[in-house]
Amino acid sequence: MISLLLQAQNIQEIFTHCYEGIMIVDRNKTVIYWNPEAERVSGVPAGELIGKCCCDNSLVHVDHLGNRLCTKACPFVASFCTGTVHETEAYLIHKEGHQVPVSSKMIPLYQDNTFIGMIELFRDNSPRETLMKELADLNDRATIDPLTGLRNRRYAEVVINSKLQEIRSGGTTFGVLFIDIDHFKNINDTYGHDIGDLVLKMLAKTLMNNTRQHDVLVRWGGEEIVTVIVSPNIQAKLTMIAEKLRHLISKSVLPLDDGHNIQVTVSIGATAAHLNDSVDSLLKRADQLMYHAKNSGRNCVRTDL
Ligand code: GH3
Ligand code: MG
Ligand code: MG
Repeated sequence: MISLLLQAQNIQEIFTHCYEGIMIVDRNKTVIYWNPEAERVSGVPAGELIGKCCCDNSLVHVDHLGNRLCTKACPFVASFCTGTVHETEAYLIHKEGHQVPVSSKMIPLYQDNTFIGMIELFRDNSPRETLMKELADLNDRATIDPLTGLRNRRYAEVVINSKLQEIRSGGTTFGVLFIDIDHFKNINDTYGHDIGDLVLKMLAKTLMNNTRQHDVLVRWGGEEIVTVIVSPNIQAKLTMIAEKLRHLISKSVLPLDDGHNIQVTVSIGATAAHLNDSVDSLLKRADQLMYHAKNSGRNCVRTDL
């Protein structure tokens, strides 16, 4: 079952990106999975642990008095006996010898009511690590628009500037889409500002779900969204991507409690970054193309490609 689960298309990928260390053991305590964060926290590479018993000497957890948990108070056994999640504060001995404080949770795994193993989630609790995570989180929050979850304009200006420098030294080409909601004022006037906000959130989600991870989505202004699309052959791709997003947005539907459904369309200006562009010149061109789209009847893409 576990191996089947791990073969599922993206389960393993999700585990790979987790901020917590993850260890999966089978019912005999043999380690069958060890994610990159677990490697980082412990210094032990997956190759050295997988296939071994978690209580042999490759991995040592101790309590604050230095007692080995495996022999004194094995969290695996505690969780197995109670059938519930078992939480522990302990120290993991890093491969280089130092102690790493960790908070861990043991979660028993069952199939057809039969115990088949255990998953351990653990987190590096060293104050320095916690501080770094808090700073990263703070930085994220400072650059994210609270309503839509998209990046804010300040962040976008820095990113676009750095991408412009990259293309001048042969980096991957990119383009921007300037997206503006059509007749958005009517939505606010008809349904109220709060519903308008929900429409903005819906639009942001449609964009987030249908662009790639390294594309950057930005709330540029009130109801203007800029999307930075990075692609080796941007000239060929950008219009196609813009049309796809325009179409997906026009088919998104916000259902209201009173039975009404709200749909909106957008006008999009699409342009690729030139070697001599600045952030201002690039965005100005995209904005002008968006206005051409408005003047051409809205719900369309205008590009200079
Ligand atoms: P057009 O098709 O020409 O773009 O028409 P429009 O009505 O969308 O354009 P206009 O620029 O005249 O109006 C934009 C509206 O967006 C006006 C403003 O109230 C609304 N808006 C801007 N920011 C927000 C927001 O955060 N929430 C809501 N609900 N509305 C917003
Ligand atoms: Mg506008
Ligand atoms: Mg508008």
